[in-house]
Amino acid sequence: MADVNPAVTGEERDGTQHADRARELEARLSAVRSRIASAAESAGRPRPSLIVVTKYFPASDVRVLAELGVRDVGENRDQEASGKAEALIDLSLRWHFIGQLQTNKAKSVVRYAHSIHSIDRPQLVTALGKAMVTEQARLTDAGLPLRPDLECFLQFSLAGAHGSDEDTSPAGRGGADPREAGNLAEAVRAAEGLRLAGVMAVAPIGAEPAAAFGRLVEISAVVRSVEPAALAVSAGMSGDLEAAVAAGATHLRIGSDVLGPRPALR
Ligand SMILES: *Cc1c(COP(=O)(O)O)cnc(C)c1O
Repeated sequence: MADVNPAVTGEERDGTQHADRARELEARLSAVRSRIASAAESAGRPRPSLIVVTKYFPASDVRVLAELGVRDVGENRDQEASGKAEALIDLSLRWHFIGQLQTNKAKSVVRYAHSIHSIDRPQLVTALGKAMVTEQARLTDAGLPLRPDLECFLQFSLAGAHGSDEDTSPAGRGGADPREAGNLAEAVRAAEGLRLAGVMAVAPIGAEPAAAFGRLVEISAVVRSVEPAALAVSAGMSGDLEAAVAAGATHLRIGSDVLGPRPALR
């Protein structure tokens, strides 16, 4: 963990700063919860689960959020996420991995993650399945309780143009070609240790979020034709949560509106 930003695990704020930050987080979280409630009410939809995206913010912020009732947190980089999950092992948080994931990180991620929202290729399904089997064997050997199956969301690109399979934009857009929906769903369904939860997408820059999320819901129908229990739709960020709720999102991934503007990319 040598090159983890000290801000991630450090408790560098003094008492007054900590109290100020706690008040700020409480106010922001409460504003976001109200927005979600009114969006659900005006859309006549059930209220989706809120995943607070804590990437780039310290473990001390996550602890405050947990005290405010947050149970689901999202992270997009394995090194940062594993450090925070370890620092906060005493809390019963559910860690959602939402960033692009390399197959060589699968073993590490399954040690703390409750779900992966960014499954975009068959090789990653294979790697996660193998990693889960290894993890369960490790737990069995250690006499520890087994983990529930890893919740898997298939991430789709709604950009229209496919060809490059890597997207390095800061929000980690990317995702599979929607034409791969059936194949990917079959792969997850066949893998031991994985449970197909549903679909995920980030609205493309410049696109109308309502149209993009409508498309995601259509893709969800294809996935559900393979796995009827895969009802989840992970869609909606700070800027477009209302459109996502209206389209039928079941999981929202909200970062900056709860935590404030993110520090510059490192
Ligand atoms: C960072 C991130 C979010 C949260 O975005 P905000 O605009 O800060 O709410 C959601 N989803 C993904 C995939 C992200 O990378």
